[in-house]
Amino acid sequence: MDERITLAHGAGGRKTSELIEKLFKKHLGNPDMTADDAAVLALKSSRIAVSTDGFIVSPSFFPGGNIGKLSVCGTVNDLACMGAEPLYLTVAAVIEEGFPVADLEKIVESMGKTADEAGVHIVCGDTKVAGKGQVDGIFITTTGIGLMPEGEYPAGNKAAPGDAVIVTGDVGRHGAAILLARDEFGIEADITSDCAPLAGLVKAAVSAGGDDIHVIRDATRGGVGTVLHEIAAQSGVGITIERTKIPVDPAVRTVTEMLGLESLYLACEGRMVIFCGAPAAEAVLTAIRATKYGEGAAVIGKVTGSRVGKVVVKTKIGGETLLPAPSGELLPRIC
Ligand code: MG
Repeated sequence: MDERITLAHGAGGRKTSELIEKLFKKHLGNPDMTADDAAVLALKSSRIAVSTDGFIVSPSFFPGGNIGKLSVCGTVNDLACMGAEPLYLTVAAVIEEGFPVADLEKIVESMGKTADEAGVHIVCGDTKVAGKGQVDGIFITTTGIGLMPEGEYPAGNKAAPGDAVIVTGDVGRHGAAILLARDEFGIEADITSDCAPLAGLVKAAVSAGGDDIHVIRDATRGGVGTVLHEIAAQSGVGITIERTKIPVDPAVRTVTEMLGLESLYLACEGRMVIFCGAPAAEAVLTAIRATKYGEGAAVIGKVTGSRVGKVVVKTKIGGETLLPAPSGELLPRIC
């Protein structure tokens, strides 16, 4: 193999086959991946969930992951939000001419490992090489297919007054990790992205909560704060959260205080916000905390029938403030 990606790797000839065989198939191969033009999949249900996402994160490698791991987690987690069992992924990579093959291999290797962990097969893919400067390093798009359960499923319009609002761990770590990885602020802190596949966590939550699980949404770009605003609007409810109950890593807290950022608006890539009927909340929380990525889960507030569309934050000293509406991602290319 060459040391760097060349335009010939994307030209469809011998070098393309070599790249696919020696790198992509080596790490991603499975019985559902064939050499034909499309994968043929037999599904056990006529109801499936489909989701797609493009990943352009900069830098491609960051503490706690890389664009490959992220591209699998992102789509697996979106499927899981619907209560679906993620089964299959497709992958399209656009690689810049000159990209180091060793880095590409690390990225693809972590895609394979993360797919294994999430229990999904990557069934087909596409590689394109763009000329130098036409893309920045590597961009990856993944599409996922998941099996939907029978009956009701969680959705953004199902939050109801009285619901507990659960976050499945500390907030804002992915955003903070990317921010620091860019070295623009001259701050050093030990912050690792929370990037993780959450299908197992969601399965545990749904088993414990059943139909009381009303909404599940992954707090990615825009963070937990954006999700709270989205659900308040979509469900036509108010949401009240308590500042002291929001789990934040101490290093993240320090960075947000130094830079004047709201941790609720920093991206997560391994956190769900779950709205759950109050009677089931304790059991759901216990079930989530027993999973690999849910140790730090907490109830941070509840849904109300008043102040519809608003997110109220109870402060440490007992006051109330409104969480301002999201103003858009403060960092470009976070995921
Ligand atoms: Mg999502």
